[in-house]
Amino acid sequence: MRQALIAVISALVLRAVPAVAQGAVDPTAALLQEIIRLDTSNPPGHEGLIDELLASKLKPLGFEVTIVPTPEAGKSHLIARLKGDGSKRPVLLAAHADVVGVERDKWTVDPFGGVIKDGHVYGRGAIDFKGGMAVFARAVMQLAERKVPLSRDVIFVVEADEEAAQYNTSWLAQSHWAEMDAEFALNEGGWIIADDAGKVRYVSVSTADKSSVGIIVSATGTSTHSSMPRPDNAIFALSKALAKIAGYEFPVQLTDANRKFIAVLARTSPQPLAGYYQALLGGADAAARAAADREISKDPLMHAIIRNTIAPVIINGGFRSNVIPGSAEATLNARLLPAVDPKAVVAALQKLVDDPAVTVRLSNPNAGPSRTPVSPEDNELYRALEKHAKATFAGAEVTPYTFQAGTDAGAWRSRGVPVYGIYPYPITADELTRMHGNDEKVSIDSLRKGTEMIFNTLVEVAGKGR
Ligand SMILES: [Zn+2]
Repeated sequence: MRQALIAVISALVLRAVPAVAQGAVDPTAALLQEIIRLDTSNPPGHEGLIDELLASKLKPLGFEVTIVPTPEAGKSHLIARLKGDGSKRPVLLAAHADVVGVERDKWTVDPFGGVIKDGHVYGRGAIDFKGGMAVFARAVMQLAERKVPLSRDVIFVVEADEEAAQYNTSWLAQSHWAEMDAEFALNEGGWIIADDAGKVRYVSVSTADKSSVGIIVSATGTSTHSSMPRPDNAIFALSKALAKIAGYEFPVQLTDANRKFIAVLARTSPQPLAGYYQALLGGADAAARAAADREISKDPLMHAIIRNTIAPVIINGGFRSNVIPGSAEATLNARLLPAVDPKAVVAALQKLVDDPAVTVRLSNPNAGPSRTPVSPEDNELYRALEKHAKATFAGAEVTPYTFQAGTDAGAWRSRGVPVYGIYPYPITADELTRMHGNDEKVSIDSLRKGTEMIFNTLVEVAGKGR
């Protein structure tokens, strides 16, 4: 019986992605077109539109589907479950249904038209994360279509409010944790980076996110008539403080995952970049390391991956043109690597500013170091993803890394469920710049290969007899 099942599953893996008849659109691309045509720009989101569409596709395949409404009309989450025999705990896939808005006049196609052009699907969310939703959805649907015998439930969650706002997965987990609990999960995060010729260099899988912390810098001075300025001016004091912070750079700090990531970059990048990555890993003297950091950090993404960052985002001060205000305030957004204590960052900034008229504090005074565990690399899901990423993209290296931003993974990771982040399709540097930008697009070939990789990963992890 066991042998027979393995044979069945092996056959399934080999035939994971059926050849698409000429003229027909690839099923993942076709689903992505449908999803893009539902405008879920957040605010307001209207994510329920996608929940209804996917429910109508998943229910006939045997999925148990729950749509969880939020207090906001039109905003809901979908939880779909394909039952296994229960001998193992569930595996979960999560995708957010909302997208950021568009500058419509800067697009060459309708961002909500689901347009196919030059082998790509165009539209807001093509990469972040409707493309991933289409890949995850098609992968789980194929499990049902092909009647793959399952040792564990496969749960597919379509989420609201990831891009902003309050009814996100953390909100959902407060009341529906039992339906979302799993042994491990996939969501967005890492990248399958292809060169301009389409060859995949590496696959990065995020195993932790940076945390986002608000910091308030406030300055005080004498409030008085603007015709008689005094030395203690709140706006000048704030400006001087911000100028000092602008000149400050956090030192390079590599997480365990990012050391592996940088090592992969050192092996797969062209020179002289490869040498800079090598220098960052150690061995080089301090001056060479600093020079390598300067070159690597010209890329804002790499700059953010290898250190904590801080950026001013809001500034407030003054109310009339003839009044010197008694106070002025700036909000900074810090993005901190796992285990970094925000209180220590505030103390360092206060010392740097060195002005009794200026106070630096946390916007949430209770914020502490993130206690969210980093997801391990030694379990069935990570190993299966690594194996099938290598099988799908011959010659590509696979590495964990720490994501430079936040995702919806926190709801699971904070409860001890490992989450592995991946945008499951090869993309080029050019395509990456379009995410949250204009003419966002993903190639149909990338969607096809991504679906193959995720389907085979799920068969490996949840298929019976594996
Ligand atoms: Zn996203």
